[in-house]
Amino acid sequence: MISIETPGLTSDSPRTLDEKLARVRELLAHELATPDNNDACLTCSFQAEDVLLLHLALELRPAIPVIFLDTGYHFAETYAYRDRIATDWNLNLINVLPKHTVAEQELEHGLLYQTAPDRCCSLRKVEPLFAAIANYKIWFTGLRREQARSRTALEEIADFTLPSGITVRKLSPLADWTTRDVWQSCTLYGIPLLPLYEVGYTSIGCSPCTTIPTDPNDPRSGRWAGHKIECGIHIQAAPNS
Ligand code: SF4
Repeated sequence: MISIETPGLTSDSPRTLDEKLARVRELLAHELATPDNNDACLTCSFQAEDVLLLHLALELRPAIPVIFLDTGYHFAETYAYRDRIATDWNLNLINVLPKHTVAEQELEHGLLYQTAPDRCCSLRKVEPLFAAIANYKIWFTGLRREQARSRTALEEIADFTLPSGITVRKLSPLADWTTRDVWQSCTLYGIPLLPLYEVGYTSIGCSPCTTIPTDPNDPRSGRWAGHKIECGIHIQAAPNS
């Protein structure tokens, strides 16, 4: 793990929300210190964490590339919200598309999200995103440890090696944030949120694979009907041999 020290704080110290916000701004400032706009990107699903982190990153780099993984299967509300925020915040939005459209994939393979969701995620999420990320040295995410049991060991800063062998510096400045921290901060900054939260969704991905959570203690229990908990993007891949 690479560390950036804040006087009196380590990344594991209990912190107030103000201290957490200061830490995020410090990490962003450290990583975005170079004038090169194309060395860093931020992946954004337009869920609350990502939009909050984006809001903070824009303070320092208004034209930071914002990568949205457009699987073609998102909710209409997600697309509408993406477009609204992109316009209102003048985003440098990069809409990353899979090799094949939804229609082409369904014609060739049927409904992979029902028959082979790992394959579907690989084609529509993992492969296109890893290809896009390879263009950058620094990758910001809004991931948090609290989101899922698969994320409890998430590091704030870590090197991430893509299957191509290219290594990028992956930063998750909200790693130790709680849901409450995120919501309080969004309220503090007047950030409008994806309307699907208002009807009970707590983790929002592709529409065929997302429901309102079945376990109130597990915000990702509405993803993939419990059959899997990660699409594969945030799992360190083995380099090609
Ligand atoms: S989340 Fe579902 S629809 Fe989206 S890429 Fe994965 S399997 Fe396909």
